[in-house]
Amino acid sequence: MKFDEAFSLRGEIALITGGGTGIGLAMARAMHGAGAKVVLVGRREAELQAAVASLGGGAHAFTHDVTDFAGAAGLVERVTRDVGPVTCLVNNAGIHLKKPAVDTTPEEFQAVLNTHVVGAHALTRAVAPGMMARGHGSILFTGSMASIFGIPLVIAYTAAKSAMVGLVKGYSTELAGHGVRVNCIAPGWIATEMSRRALDGDPARKAKIFGRTPMGDMGEPEDIGWAAVYLASPAAKFVTGVTLPVDGGVSVGF
Ligand code: NDP
Repeated sequence: MKFDEAFSLRGEIALITGGGTGIGLAMARAMHGAGAKVVLVGRREAELQAAVASLGGGAHAFTHDVTDFAGAAGLVERVTRDVGPVTCLVNNAGIHLKKPAVDTTPEEFQAVLNTHVVGAHALTRAVAPGMMARGHGSILFTGSMASIFGIPLVIAYTAAKSAMVGLVKGYSTELAGHGVRVNCIAPGWIATEMSRRALDGDPARKAKIFGRTPMGDMGEPEDIGWAAVYLASPAAKFVTGVTLPVDGGVSVGF
């Protein structure tokens, strides 16, 4: 395979949840640059439309709440009809909840799990049959360092991102024989609205995090975008079931 072909996403249709902002938008930009049509999914129409306008031709927006589990199949049908069959799904939508574990109510805990885990499962099971029938597909998840080591004050998020790694292991083994690869990217701290909300006003937490990050700084959303291109591309055709840290070294320690 030639270099250009190995990293090309020409002919692919990538549905990216949370694609209107932050890491999801950076993934969309990188995948679009690699030749894919991109379908951005989120709850806020205005963010999605602005993101589509910033990408130009070959980008589409669909409003959908990933916690509408029953609506997942309908979303995939609409995308298939209006854009084409989804060949790459990126389960990236996420919410953050910073609270002491003992103060986190079951309802709050459930809401975080619903977005990251049940929502991702609902969409994955909606796209997987088509991918298996075509013998071609790639499914990505945006995980977190929170599945690799414990982080105080994010109990529900930690549980959700750890369960996400379970989804990757389960789906990857079940779909591997059908030409469908399933992988996860575990970002370290990346400069987005979510990390700003989690860290602003907490300089001690910020100092602790960067003190133990070997590269000493936050990553940029595009760092995750390029990793997504690699994992979705033919260059990674023998890669499935992995969780790839993109984290400035934080997962290996000081
Ligand atoms: P953002 O807050 O910018 O992105 C979150 C996105 O998820 C938004 O576009 C939001 O769109 C979408 N979203 C949230 N809930 C739903 C829902 N129910 N249905 C559909 N879309 C939803 O933050 P990031 O870009 O940082 O986060 C993206 C992912 O990266 C998340 O999974 C996060 O956990 C993960 N991550 C982030 C890190 C960081 O340091 N920034 C580190 C590790 C992981 P809308 O509100 O319009 O629905």
